[in-house]
Amino acid sequence: MNEADTEIISGLLENFGYSSTNDPAIADIVLINSCSVREKAKQRAINKLKQYNSLKKKNKQVKIGLVGCVAQQHANEVQTQIPDIDILLGPDSYRKLTDILISDDKKAINNILSKTEMYDNLQSIPQNTYYGYIPIMRGCNNFCTYCIVPYTRGRERSLSFHNIVKHAKQLVASNRKELILLGQNVNSYSFQDKRFPDVLKAISEIEKIKRIRFTSPHPKDLDERTIQIIAQNTNICNHIHLPLQSGSSKILKAMNRTYTQSDYLHLVDLIKKHIPTIAITTDIITGFPGETDTDFQETLKIMEYVKYDNAFTFKYSPRPGTKAAEMPDTVSENTKSDRLNEMITLQKKHTLYRNNELKNTTQEVFIESNSKKNINHKIGRTETNKLVIIKKGTPKIGEFINVKIIDAAGVSLFGEIE
Ligand code: SAH
Ligand code: SF4
Repeated sequence: MNEADTEIISGLLENFGYSSTNDPAIADIVLINSCSVREKAKQRAINKLKQYNSLKKKNKQVKIGLVGCVAQQHANEVQTQIPDIDILLGPDSYRKLTDILISDDKKAINNILSKTEMYDNLQSIPQNTYYGYIPIMRGCNNFCTYCIVPYTRGRERSLSFHNIVKHAKQLVASNRKELILLGQNVNSYSFQDKRFPDVLKAISEIEKIKRIRFTSPHPKDLDERTIQIIAQNTNICNHIHLPLQSGSSKILKAMNRTYTQSDYLHLVDLIKKHIPTIAITTDIITGFPGETDTDFQETLKIMEYVKYDNAFTFKYSPRPGTKAAEMPDTVSENTKSDRLNEMITLQKKHTLYRNNELKNTTQEVFIESNSKKNINHKIGRTETNKLVIIKKGTPKIGEFINVKIIDAAGVSLFGEIE
């Protein structure tokens, strides 16, 4: 979502005659787009900001700013640390950037959340040649007890159905091969009588769309109709990111995830029943307050059952202002690290297991780039979102091609053109 927001901000600036540069030393404006979902990400954003703020020593005119969730949540802290910051805009305030563009002596500081902002009449500038993002909904009403997102991105709202289809058609006309539907809870999309499966179906019917992805769905909103639509339409990728967070029903309840271990497993079974070859990935947190060893074993048990294709695993990071931040942090740092390592080791095994299943099969691969390690090799992606290094054959970047998978190692597959 931050990448999509960066595209929106680029569009806003280009509209005012700016163009982008990768060289901060010659920039008139430097913006850091930030995430505050974990403490580490927040600190990294503030450190970068300080680093770029020192550009002012050489160039008095340069404007330095922070946008995104850290700007939303920690505006005062950032202003105390960097009093001469010029821009501090939360996720619903990007239009305020124009304040500073119109008048040189003004700062652009705003973190008022909106109930309606979708940035739908702004022309975003895609950063990637082949992928196109469509933020179909913004915000979150779920208030999982560990999560800062409902506070930094406000309440759920959805882009009109008409504008989604219009945006998708524009992206396809500009040669985007893969469309990625985005939302903090992408499948709680709701606009008039339209729901998430209606969006998927309508997009899949647009001519020339090769691949459609979406992220992140919430398990509570994933219905059988959505799964059927994925199964029926070959251009909707056979990959689903299904955040688990914890395998223990007790911890899931404390997290306010609103599903139990058994609800989650039924959902996995239902998905696999309709689409046996689907890739399932997930997010898991360890060290949530009250997580005992028995709870953690439940998480490992689910990992073992599902054998995810990949998993993003995190140590619980208390976020100020959330409910969980007030619960006693009962899991020691050492235990969190041990549990995280255990999950990483298990996941590596499962990733390899899933990748090995593809050995000797033929997969359609979208060729994305040259390999950095070997100029004769190309890198592409399967519809299940796995990287394939093509060792034999000379496919062109930007084309879809059938590749025979000959080996698997770590997160990568190796293939050759048949
Ligand atoms: N809306 C998505 C998640 C968005 S945040 C969902 O509900 O699944 C992305 C991921 O960051 C989450 O899935 C969670 O695993 C992780 N995360 C969020 N808050 C966290 C925290 N306080 N500590 C550690 N990880 C966290
Ligand atoms: Fe955060 Fe939960 Fe909302 Fe996901 S559903 S963004 S984890 S509050």
